[in-house]
Amino acid sequence: MSVLVYIESEEGKFKKASFEVASYAKEVAGMMGTSVTAITFNAEDVSELGTYGVDKVLKVSNDKLKNFNAEAYSDAIKQAAEKEGSKVVVLSQSANSKYLAPLLAVQLEAGYASNVVAVPESTDPFTVKRTAFTNKAFNFTKIETEVKVLGLSKNAFGIKEAQGDAAAEDFSPSLSEEDFSVNVESVDKATNKVTIADAEVVVSGGRGLKGPENWGMIEEMADILGAATACSKPVSDMGWRPHSEHVGQTGKPVASNLYIAVGISGAIQHLAGINAAKTKVVINNDPEAPFFKAADYGIVGDAFEVVPKLNEKLKEFKEKNA
Ligand SMILES: Cc1cc2nc3c(=O)[nH]c(=O)nc-3n(C[C@H](O)[C@H](O)[C@H](O)COP(=O)(O)OP(=O)(O)OC[C@H]3O[C@@H](n4cnc5c(N)ncnc54)[C@H](O)[C@@H]3O)c2cc1C
Repeated sequence: MSVLVYIESEEGKFKKASFEVASYAKEVAGMMGTSVTAITFNAEDVSELGTYGVDKVLKVSNDKLKNFNAEAYSDAIKQAAEKEGSKVVVLSQSANSKYLAPLLAVQLEAGYASNVVAVPESTDPFTVKRTAFTNKAFNFTKIETEVKVLGLSKNAFGIKEAQGDAAAEDFSPSLSEEDFSVNVESVDKATNKVTIADAEVVVSGGRGLKGPENWGMIEEMADILGAATACSKPVSDMGWRPHSEHVGQTGKPVASNLYIAVGISGAIQHLAGINAAKTKVVINNDPEAPFFKAADYGIVGDAFEVVPKLNEKLKEFKEKNA
């Protein structure tokens, strides 16, 4: 009956979003009067999951599952859900889990609610709050199937520490050749820097920066803050920055705690991708730039004057508080 949570890892290490889904699963399990079971694939040390409310970990160790494989992972999670009698399965909204969740829902004959942003309003009927229209509205969705699959939006719930130990149990799902009809042979990372998906802070530049030669100050700010760098669509279209940095409706979604936009006008297609960021800071020399309406903090000024000064202050602050 436990709530099952899929804990993502990369090269054996857990992703930060995984601790958030574990915390969320704990809260849901509390509402349902049950415990939390996690499933991991080739994770190294699962003991820390107890800190986030996991009671038991089903450890899958299988070289064939080293790289993400939606069909095989889905089959394994389905078998774990059946073994545990789980009526609720929680996943993150990472690119991989977004691909995986509908497959899993079909296999479990479950209702699937994506973009969930809060603990269920009620568990009977099972009703969850979700974002809709690229985070511009909320809806409340009633799931009537016996098994429910929930995709938790990043940063919607936060990481909550709990006291407890997670008991590890080896789990060997039976997988067939059909599960491996599509295989990732190898993964070449575009960069070793912090990714937009995992970043707490994202520093983003737009066409207002005039050219790729001016990105040094953006990268410097990102370095000081331990942030990922991002950009608007035209910037990547013009080849100033790699396409992997393009955020917005047609680019990557951002759900960081802080999003700093420099020289970006705030077109609706850009805002669609960054609405889920918690605090937005805008630096723009046009006080009428639409982005200021969506900003929590705004600086009206020339980026070429403001950003270097801000970097100096941030460095000073960091040194003092190191
Ligand atoms: C179907 C479709 C999908 C799209 N998808 C996306 C998407 O996913 N992501 C995206 O970003 N866009 C997307 N766009 C494009 C979007 O409509 C805007 O054209 C784009 O976001 C504008 O980029 P920008 O803000 O960098 O440039 P601009 O609109 O040119 O804005 C530059 C800003 O910089 C400011 N500025 C200029 N000089 C300075 C200075 N010295 N200091 C400070 N500020 C300065 C200006 O005041 C201005 O506000 C899409 C468009 C369409 C039609």
